[in-house]
Amino acid sequence: MNELMSGFFMNLEEPVFRPPREHDSLIIQATIGCSRNGCLFCAMYKGKKFRIKTPAEIEREAAAFPAPLRSGVSKIFLADANAFCIKSDDLLEMAAILKKYFVNSRFISIYASPLDILEKSGGELEALRKAGIKNLYVGLETGSDAVLKIMNKPGGFAESSLAMQKAHAAGFVLSVTLLLGIGGKKYTAEHSFESARLINECPPRFVNTLTLTLYKTAPLYKAAVRGDFETLSNDGIIEEHCDFIKRLTVNRVIYRSNHVSNFIGLEGVLSRDKESLLAALSKFKQESVSNNFINLKTGGNYEI
Ligand code: SF4
Repeated sequence: MNELMSGFFMNLEEPVFRPPREHDSLIIQATIGCSRNGCLFCAMYKGKKFRIKTPAEIEREAAAFPAPLRSGVSKIFLADANAFCIKSDDLLEMAAILKKYFVNSRFISIYASPLDILEKSGGELEALRKAGIKNLYVGLETGSDAVLKIMNKPGGFAESSLAMQKAHAAGFVLSVTLLLGIGGKKYTAEHSFESARLINECPPRFVNTLTLTLYKTAPLYKAAVRGDFETLSNDGIIEEHCDFIKRLTVNRVIYRSNHVSNFIGLEGVLSRDKESLLAALSKFKQESVSNNFINLKTGGNYEI
């Protein structure tokens, strides 16, 4: 299975986002857009009106997928963001439908916000896990309450921590995302400190860092133009990245910083590879400065 087949057979409403690990999954849009859609830094779903599909719609889409190809589907990703907000009964029904049509599918993965997890009871989470939903991709962005508030993202450190504990208890595999530079100049120290504290308190299986990118359609772009949000310089981003990694004390956590927004691709297992990750960042910083690359790459101020 690949994305082309998902796009061709599943009638996807663009733009569609999925985590890198889901490149070989069948993508099914259980929701269109994001139920919150208010985070200042995010432009992903600004052009979409949020709606949740019914289990009957999911069944129609699954049934339309060519029968001879169904056995080739081994993984399913439920898009858009944040499809885990769908009420548990409907999610369970969708999981059962997908199991019926895609008998070789091993598991379902989905985007979930901490608040979506907290809205479900422990029993509901366990039932969803048993129904085949295994991987939760959670955009934490930061452990800092102040930064989340400024960015208009609901929730905080306590909610993120509790949500991760609840998801762990139910047996989900968590892959979380943090956003380098989201605190700007003012909150860079607090952002790395609180984010590392959050990860140390409830270690997920995967930690991913992306770098803040200012898209013109994101409200934060206007705030930066007005001067209300001061973006970090590129070396500030690297310093924040180093500070965050230094503060992590977790073990056997897969660390990835290989998104297109990152200046340098990093991957390792913490804490085993902590020193080599830091050495790679330090080397990159030195070489970038000597090549005058830091100021050429637009970093915290760029737009795409
Ligand atoms: S960051 Fe996540 S929750 Fe916030 S608007 Fe974007 S998709 Fe929605």
